Amino acid sequence: GRKFFVGGNWKCNGTNDEVKKIVSTLNGVEVPSEDVVEIVVSPPFVFLPLVKSLLRSDFQTAAQNCWVRKGGAFTGEVSAEMLVNLGIPWVILGHSERRLLLNESNEFVGDKVTYALSRGLKVIACVGETLEQRESGSTMAVVSQQTKAIADQVSNWTNVVLAYEPVWAIGTGKVATPAQAQEVHSELRKCLQQNVGGEVAASTRIIYGGSVNGANCKELAAQPDIDGFLVGGASLKPEFVDIIKAAT
Ligand code: 13P
Repeated sequence: GRKFFVGGNWKCNGTNDEVKKIVSTLNGVEVPSEDVVEIVVSPPFVFLPLVKSLLRSDFQTAAQNCWVRKGGAFTGEVSAEMLVNLGIPWVILGHSERRLLLNESNEFVGDKVTYALSRGLKVIACVGETLEQRESGSTMAVVSQQTKAIADQVSNWTNVVLAYEPVWAIGTGKVATPAQAQEVHSELRKCLQQNVGGEVAASTRIIYGGSVNGANCKELAAQPDIDGFLVGGASLKPEFVDIIKAAT
């Protein structure tokens, strides 16, 4: 089976004090065991060492991005090597905010995923369509192309979690219905089957992100092809624990 996966993407939020507070709250909660759910929190780069040093050992950490290749003269970037050096196991790549606001192309994201995996990082790779793309009927084409740009280069998906995050659902309070999400997740699994193979399609976790909260997570988690969540806003609140508990 595919182990349930819950990621908390803090995005560009938090002060030093707020971060300490969130971590101390998380450290005190009761959650299902590591055999049942994999939990990963992703603070901004500058807080990663602090979070890593304070966070309980059954929760993991992720960076929100990394440079596409080996580090060097790339002002403002953080390399995969640095994350490995700090013992950060995960990185989020291809988030829609970076695709759209920073013009990251499918190929660039594919290159980043490939390089990060080659350094030993685990990757949460994000795909998702805009409202305009959904309304014009191109959802499946868009998310398939985004996934294929990764699958073209990556054949071992053991260390990849695929996150479906419809852009229209991110930070809007407009969550995808369980049926809408399930439909895309099932298509993504077919896409993996066609472009990588049946075994990878069956074993890769495909998680949903976009306005997930404590109230809507249960019904989403009950869908056969939804293997967890990537949570934004609610991951900064105590409510994150309710979402983790949707694993059981
Ligand atoms: P929200 O949960 O705030 O909608 O954000 C989702 C997201 O983008 C997680 O990566």
